[in-house]
Parts: sequence; C-alpha cells; structure tokens
Amino acid sequence: MQAIVVTPGRPNSLRLEDQEKPAPGRGELLLEVLKVGICGTDRDIIAGFYGEAPTGSDFLVLGHESICRVSGLGVGVGGFRKGDLVVPTVRRNCPENCMNCRRGRSDLCLTGHYKEHGIKGLHGFAREFAITDHNFAVKLPESLSDTGVLLEPTTIVEKGAIETYLMQNSRMTWKPRNALVLGAGPVGLLATAILRLRGLEVHAVATRSEESFKARLVEQTGAKYINSKEVPLDTLENRYDMVFEATGNTSVALEAQNLTSVNGIVSYLGIYRQELATEDAGKVFTNLVLGNRVLFGSVNANKTYFRRGAKDLSLIDRKWQGFLEEIITKSVKVSDLNEAYAPVGEEGIKTVIHFKS
Ligand code: BGC
Repeated sequence: MQAIVVTPGRPNSLRLEDQEKPAPGRGELLLEVLKVGICGTDRDIIAGFYGEAPTGSDFLVLGHESICRVSGLGVGVGGFRKGDLVVPTVRRNCPENCMNCRRGRSDLCLTGHYKEHGIKGLHGFAREFAITDHNFAVKLPESLSDTGVLLEPTTIVEKGAIETYLMQNSRMTWKPRNALVLGAGPVGLLATAILRLRGLEVHAVATRSEESFKARLVEQTGAKYINSKEVPLDTLENRYDMVFEATGNTSVALEAQNLTSVNGIVSYLGIYRQELATEDAGKVFTNLVLGNRVLFGSVNANKTYFRRGAKDLSLIDRKWQGFLEEIITKSVKVSDLNEAYAPVGEEGIKTVIHFKS
C-alpha cells in the first residue's frame, strides 16, 4: 500500500513509499483511509521545522486530519463495525499516563511526552490503511462522508470555544453577544460558523476583498466580513466579548487583546513565528490588567471535542448548504504529491488528498 512519508528534520524529504498493510492488534481498529486534509503543521514538518519519527523508525508517515472507514477489528474492540465512518483523534497518552492523560485529557498532557499521529512519535493516516486505538476513534454519520475530513480542524475551534465559555462563566455572570474571528482560513471559517451556531453576532476579518470567495462564505453564515486592508484592525470601533485568533500572525495576535470589551477573552489558535514585538508590551499588559481580560492558548483536542465537532458539522451542513464543501478548495490524488502540499494560494482554503474515490 502507498504511504506519504518524510524524514523528520530533513527539509523536502517528502515521498511516496510502498509499505505493508498493517494488522490491527488488541483493542485496535484497522482503518481504510478515505481522505486526509493538509494544514500548516504538515507543511512545517515537510520544511524540517517540526515532526518526530516513531521510536525505531527513521521516517514518519504524515497525516493527522483524516476520514476513514473501519475495515478490520482487533480482539477486544467493542462498539464498532466494519464499514463505520470514523475519524481518529490525533494525540495519545504519555507513557507516564499522567493525571490528565489518564482522564481522557491528553490535550492537556502534563509531561509533554504525549504522542501525536502524523506529527510526533506515531505514524499518521496519510496511507491507504492505518491503525488506531479504538478508544480514540469517533463515529460520523454518512452525511459527512465528503466533508468529515474537516472534523479535526473543527475540534481546534470547539476546544477554544468551550474553554472560552467555561472560563468566563466561572468568573462572572456572562452574557456574550458578539465575537470577532481573526483569519478566514479553515480554522477561521469553521470558528465563524460555530460561533454563529451559538447565536452570536460574528465579525470575521481577513485580507481578501469584500467580493472574495472567503467573504462570501463568511456572509453565508450571517456573519459580517471585514477586509483589514480597507478597515485596519486598530480602527475597528466595536469591542468584542470574545476574540478567536486564527491568522497565526504575530502583529495581529498582539492587536487581538485591544479588540476585546472589558472582561473579554482571546483564544489563540495559531502557531506564531518568533518576532520582535510590534506593539508596546507595557500597553498590552496594562490593557490586560485594567480590563480584566483573559488571553489563553489552546492546542489539540480530545475525544469530547471531536464528538461535539461531529454534531456541529452536521448542523452546519444542514443550515448552510455547500459551506463545508466549499472550504475544500482542492482535492488531489495521492500520486500528485507536490501539488497536494503546495501552498493553497490567494483564494485557496483547504487541500485534501483522496486515497479512495
Ligand atoms: C494539530 C494538533 C496538534 C498540533 C501540534 C496541529 O496542527 O491540529 O492536534 O496538537 O498541531 O502538534
């Protein structure tokens, strides 16, 4: 079977390899991979900045965003049947099985020794067949067979949103009305839709024009699109109850906290390059203190967020027809490797590789 692999740390070592089909062990599912999605993390691994091969291996199979069908069951697996549509989560418990990993919260692993499929110490799902522990797989309805590959990025938003509400509700009586989403890539667009599902007035900011494809997608959900080239962030008049930063841009990240109302909260969902501050740090901290603001970072998602994401994807699919399909702007075959991992371009959003049509 074909697998997409890299040698971690060696830039541009991306290649297709012929591998043996894996066999499921005790408690494991054999997955027939239908599609994998590509994100910035995959591109960073290919560039050699990130990624770790499993112990004893000198290569890493890529792919942490996927949609699969159960094709075989190891002994001791319950609750799944052959043919089920599933998405495996990304992170697995640390060997120490720390208190959080033990409780199903490997997304908050305390030791940092967690593993991640396709990223850190475990092969990923960019291959015709893959294996997962059945405790880390979530079933999806057949209606999501085309778009369920978007579940993993959706879970990143779910975690940010759920933590936002938990933190704010635990410190005050909170009745949020509006939200600002920074960025209109896959995470920004999914955040816009999920916050609209929660009944908020949502503004989404990106650098494309008001006539662009991304602006149209934002507006399909009833959110307002703002082109930051026409309306710079520091001129925005509104102050928002919550801000979701999904641009991965350091200056935007610093500006984000200025855009919250008093007692507001910012959820950072991007990975930021190390850069010298473009804002006065004193102003940032004073604003933080005098406004009782919360800034928090959020990475990875556990099964709870995958379940919630699966429900929300179904709701989005019913409410705003075509929205999810349109986020997938490029679908390529596994043989078109370089095409698959090329940057998405101006109007591109998400590239997906098909293992099986
Ligand atoms: C994945 C997360 C992962 C993170 C860091 C992201 O692209 O969505 O699951 O924790 O990369 O490795």
